[in-house]
Amino acid sequence: VRRKLIAGNWKMNGSRAQLAELSAIAAAAREAAGVDVAICPPFTLISLAAARAGGLAIGAQDCHQSDSGAHTGNVSAPMLKEAGARLTIVGHSERRADQHESDALVSAKAQAAIRHGLRTIVCVGESEADRAAGRAGKVVSAQLSGSLPDPEGDGEMVVAYEPIWAIGTGKSATTADVAEMHALIRAHLIDNFGDRGGRIRILYGGSVKAENAAELFAVDNVDGALVGGASLTAEQFVPIIQAAA
Ligand code: 13P
Repeated sequence: VRRKLIAGNWKMNGSRAQLAELSAIAAAAREAAGVDVAICPPFTLISLAAARAGGLAIGAQDCHQSDSGAHTGNVSAPMLKEAGARLTIVGHSERRADQHESDALVSAKAQAAIRHGLRTIVCVGESEADRAAGRAGKVVSAQLSGSLPDPEGDGEMVVAYEPIWAIGTGKSATTADVAEMHALIRAHLIDNFGDRGGRIRILYGGSVKAENAAELFAVDNVDGALVGGASLTAEQFVPIIQAAA
């Protein structure tokens, strides 16, 4: 069986003061013995967060595909590890949109992170227009084909399905939509990676909150969640961890 993973993505939010939330989140993570819990704050807070994480895994929201070099403004996987990160997100739809990241670039970033032993959450998900046009499955399949690296390496590969229209909108996908898409992703993973594909965790993301977490976690092939807004405070994030336990 796959352990559930609950990862919080703080996006471009948070400050030193916000790190006060981590102690209650870490306490809840220790209670939920069968669940992996992580928080991905902005780069600037990773080392501070790691120092006071109390066993909670701290991660990044992106990582560059090269180890070092002339890439102004970027941060590499070895740098993240040195700062105390144990995981990273890559290919979030906000980066695909804001930074024009392609599937090929996302795959290269994921490969670098896995090579350096980081647990790597690769995000995919269709737009509202794609879904309305009946091409959600096609779009996600193409993203998987282009964005997933060879999962061999020290770091674990995780996939996150985040339909863009459900992110930050309060409008989560229905359990039927989630079941259908996670089954498609599972089939893709098994086709491409054999038995190993059956062990890869698939997270759902998009307006996950205390009220809908339990029903989402009961869906086949939902192995946890990637949580945005509701990961910013222990008050909202802890019930999601508890729903996975
Ligand atoms: P929300 O939980 O705020 O909808 O964000 C989801 C997300 O993008 C997590 O990466």
